[in-house]
Amino acid sequence: MTHWRRRWQARRGDGRAIPDRLWARVVADLPCLQALDGNEQARLRDLCAAFLARKEFSGAHGLVVDDRMALLVAAQACLPLRHRGLSALAWYDDFVGIVLHPDEVVAPRRTRDEAGVVHEYDEALAGEAMQGGPIVLAWPRVLGSAPGATGIGHNLVIHEFAHAIDLHGKPLGQPADGCPLLPAGFLGLSAAAARQHWHTVLTEAHATHRQRVALHERFGAPPPWLDAYGAESLAEFFAVACEAYCVDRERLAEAHADLVALLDAFFARPTAPGDTR
Ligand SMILES: [Zn+2]
Repeated sequence: MTHWRRRWQARRGDGRAIPDRLWARVVADLPCLQALDGNEQARLRDLCAAFLARKEFSGAHGLVVDDRMALLVAAQACLPLRHRGLSALAWYDDFVGIVLHPDEVVAPRRTRDEAGVVHEYDEALAGEAMQGGPIVLAWPRVLGSAPGATGIGHNLVIHEFAHAIDLHGKPLGQPADGCPLLPAGFLGLSAAAARQHWHTVLTEAHATHRQRVALHERFGAPPPWLDAYGAESLAEFFAVACEAYCVDRERLAEAHADLVALLDAFFARPTAPGDTR
């Protein structure tokens, strides 16, 4: 395992600590950053500086993590937080380590089915988020879409960090369930009402998505734009919805307007003049 050290002094929350040339290169690499206006990019750059000051990157199997690689991860991890600002980095405070692998990771799995039979198998993973960290990412996938992916709303880094947001504040051992800790006063509701509202909207959108996936798989209907993997569970649905939201919010809104309104509130997206959604 090799460890990455910043060669520049990343002052807390000051994006100017990131060299201009490096920032420009990372923006050029990531289409989802190019759509941001100047203010949003400056806020994101500040977030990245603070993020990089808090996190430790390592490369597995001899992969050497350089500044560009670390910043590519930071920029995508911080993209959903850009409207909430530095305080939202607390969502990522439950872990410090980020491990980049040269390729997909083969993880041994062990499950017990309903009949009590234990199954052991290896699973190839592009990434993984676990309670307490680290976040594991396959480096080749940090820049690109999944092989064979039909939609363009994919982003592996946002997916894994969405799981981290989901896990934040959950008691040890409680799995991700698509229902993250909500900010105080969320949508002007009490904490209990906000949780209930979140669960209702997410569950309904998930049911709609499952139905669309089933219609595609069983009856040859066109595939839904949103990643079919989201049908697996509420936790995966939340993660693929966050990916799609950050990569192409308008397209997601066509498929799941209520869900987008929920994510707008969660990520504190300001309402644009004339914005009716
Ligand atoms: Zn996932």
